[in-house]
Amino acid sequence: MKTTEPVEILPGLYQIPIPIPLESLRSVFVYLAVDGKHNLLIDTGWSSKEAREALEQALSSVGLSLSKLENVVVSHLHPDHFGLAEEIRHEAPNSRLIMHEADAAWILNTRNEFEQFMRELHNFLGVHGMPSSELVAVKDASLKMLSFFRPPKPNFIAKGGEILQVGKKWRFQLIHTPGHTIGNLCLYDLSGSKVFFSGDHVLPTITPNISLSPRYNGDPLGDYMDSLKSIEKLDVGPVLPSHEYVFSNLKNRIVEILAHHRERLEEAVSIFDKSSEDSLSAYQVAIGLHWMSGSWDSMSAWERRAALMETLAHLQYLKNRGKLIEVQEGQKDKQRISYSIIKNGSKEKSSLAK
Ligand SMILES: [Zn+2]
Repeated sequence: MKTTEPVEILPGLYQIPIPIPLESLRSVFVYLAVDGKHNLLIDTGWSSKEAREALEQALSSVGLSLSKLENVVVSHLHPDHFGLAEEIRHEAPNSRLIMHEADAAWILNTRNEFEQFMRELHNFLGVHGMPSSELVAVKDASLKMLSFFRPPKPNFIAKGGEILQVGKKWRFQLIHTPGHTIGNLCLYDLSGSKVFFSGDHVLPTITPNISLSPRYNGDPLGDYMDSLKSIEKLDVGPVLPSHEYVFSNLKNRIVEILAHHRERLEEAVSIFDKSSEDSLSAYQVAIGLHWMSGSWDSMSAWERRAALMETLAHLQYLKNRGKLIEVQEGQKDKQRISYSIIKNGSKEKSSLAK
């Protein structure tokens, strides 16, 4: 067993790496703020024996244990962030488990609910053009996630704006930053350290997956870009992300990420411009885009699922801004959705994403 030494970012503020069984990421950082007897854990890590051991070891090295945890914030409803939430509540029944209301409303509480949502999701991917041969592998990958199914049961529902006081030292404000999930939370210390916990919302070199899904079908990319702009004005010092490394200069990173999505929107539009077809499915656009993870053929089923849902978030953004129209064909299980570009609506590039 590896020893997990927490890294003391500032006096009383620790970064704890927790292993996760995903090749692409390897670990997630959870953060612990302590002042005297008071403490706040930000995220919990994955639900596994190794993850629990890593967290327990790190806590014991600073004189704590799961049963002494007071407040736990789950930044968003992804398994590497909430995985151990219920185990912690079991050990510390009086602790507060804090989540944003929009993510809390999405919790799949039973195996049935999980399976129902997977059916909705797989149907949605099929409607948007994913061939059934690929859907089979995606269904398999989704099913594997069921073995990590430990839904959190928050007992404190946040709306954003709440302040979590930890002893006399820390005053973390919860900031609602929808996009990566609909109820994503960041935390900003108002007590003077200027520490900003960015979670998956802002990472130093990679960008979080922004997905349109059957249950987040408004404008996730538009929400995400607005959320980035909403934190741009904060006077931020160290940025504590959930992956990669601690960094500073949040503003620069926001500018880079906004530019990245504007380029992706333009790349999507160029695929329509080059195509001889009247309309394209999201799947056809997705396989034409460039992906960091490589060519479509080299992607795992899980990566393809994420890539198609991210493409859909971009197409939805363009649709909501009058650049594309949605074309529906067929009915029920034969339904297909594709998109056509509105030619005379194509203004200069810069108008795509303000
Ligand atoms: Zn995430």
